Amino acid sequence: MIVLIKKQLTPPFTKLAPELTIGLYHKFSHQDGVDIPLSCIPNVHYHFHLKSFTVQFFALRDIKTGEQIFHSYCRANKTLEERKAKLALHGFECNCRVCANATPESDRLRKNFETQITNFKTLALKKPLRGILEQALKLEKDMIKEGLDIILNFGSLLIFISWVYAKLGNMEESERYQRLGSEIKNCYLKNQE
Ligand SMILES: [Zn+2]
Repeated sequence: MIVLIKKQLTPPFTKLAPELTIGLYHKFSHQDGVDIPLSCIPNVHYHFHLKSFTVQFFALRDIKTGEQIFHSYCRANKTLEERKAKLALHGFECNCRVCANATPESDRLRKNFETQITNFKTLALKKPLRGILEQALKLEKDMIKEGLDIILNFGSLLIFISWVYAKLGNMEESERYQRLGSEIKNCYLKNQE
């Protein structure tokens, strides 16, 4: 069974309910006939909810009526070769846009974005903020292009950009980035409940 969304889902991080709350964790294993294709730019996130003993899915992006859902098996910081190796263990192959267009630069981005986001905070104390802002905005753009704009760390990057804008006196942009960043961060926290 290929799962298609029957109803438009907005905004991001809506809980997919109830037809996509799958009974038992071990059943979510392709033996059960539930076949959710893989992609390194997933539109759903799932986790095992201990209290109800179910696997619960959440929309990470807006998903339109009839649109296919995709989930990812690999952490965002894995290179193409690392993703391939992991998926091969399960007998899977990923044909997503990001895998098809992977380059040494995109692999480097995946390896470095976490460190870059952490380092921005230290750099911002020592270097001119305008330069740091430029770097942070470039990273934001690169992460969006690579489909990394729905992970928790991307939320941290947006909150950092918001902080820089506030320091530079641009309150409008600061508030906009704060809102976007908080939306990502809060939803990940909320989904753990
Ligand atoms: Zn892929």
